[in-house]
Amino acid sequence: MNHFIKTTRVLLASAAIISCSDDDQVAIDDVSDNIETEISPFIDTFVEEAGNRGLTFDFKGFEATFSLDDIDDNELICGRASAFSDNKNFITIRRSDRCWIQQSDATREGLVFHEMGHAMLDRPHRDDRFDNSLVKSVMETGELGPYNEFTPLLKQYLFDELFDETTEAPPWIFDKTEEVVVEINSGLEVSDEGWVFLTTKDFLKRSAVTGARTSQAASSGEFSLGLQVTENLDETLFWRFRTDELNIIPETADVLIEVKFRMQNVEGGGVAIAGGFDKDNEILSFNSTETVEEFVGTSVFQTHTLTIPYFPNTSAVVSIILAFLPNTTGLVFFDDITLKAVYNPAFGPA
Ligand SMILES: [Zn+2]
Repeated sequence: MNHFIKTTRVLLASAAIISCSDDDQVAIDDVSDNIETEISPFIDTFVEEAGNRGLTFDFKGFEATFSLDDIDDNELICGRASAFSDNKNFITIRRSDRCWIQQSDATREGLVFHEMGHAMLDRPHRDDRFDNSLVKSVMETGELGPYNEFTPLLKQYLFDELFDETTEAPPWIFDKTEEVVVEINSGLEVSDEGWVFLTTKDFLKRSAVTGARTSQAASSGEFSLGLQVTENLDETLFWRFRTDELNIIPETADVLIEVKFRMQNVEGGGVAIAGGFDKDNEILSFNSTETVEEFVGTSVFQTHTLTIPYFPNTSAVVSIILAFLPNTTGLVFFDDITLKAVYNPAFGPA
């Protein structure tokens, strides 16, 4: 097959000398020797997705290779691509554990598509997000795994956006008027059932950390979850609640964690609310207030909300994390913790 294509191409090329050889597009099959076997299927998918949208590319001089060292000294960078206008188009992927080896096929595909966006579509980075903090583009800087195998509607939108950046926001992002409240041990009045305190790993510093259900302060009723740290520790200390009771929630739903907390002399990294979805030990999604807001100082009980966007189309476990970030001292009380999902009813359960 390959041989046939190459022979045909020679004939085409000689015929083209008479007209204009520059206009002669090189197909992906002609450069397959220059594409790493492990990367190849994702390039094929890219070409197929592009073809579905009426796009073809000139793969003249195209290469897709692995590189461990010569991308950059910056280990956070997982890939690199030539500029669209370069004569020679290439993508380079860092074949490290974090960037490739331990990643799912969906995440590998997203990385390859990102680099192909630079190399073949002339796309720069796009870092704005939807109001619920959901990623808007595969071309976002530095974010591995913007979609996964359990988010087909999101993947469809992200592919549309990659090949046409004027793609409109998908309908499921709007009008999330349907609400489902999940029963959890929200007020802590009877016990701290379901809540687990993850204390310091440093055995010698255990006395500097206290995590306990307490009647010292409460927003409603008499009890709350207390967390006190008296010494700077270079780790996150947190209360955690996990539930799989959101099985009835449809794909595209946002999960909202609402917490009231009161701070007393909190210094350093501060308080954070975090949470995410996981399945079979794979983290599908994670979000934290730490990137958008710093909570330090002393306060009365105030309500804070974290949105974890986009519930997957599978039964995932939801984690709620109420934390002191690394190097935080002080005292905080968490109370009236609620968990709910909101979604556009047009995308509700079948
Ligand atoms: Zn990039």
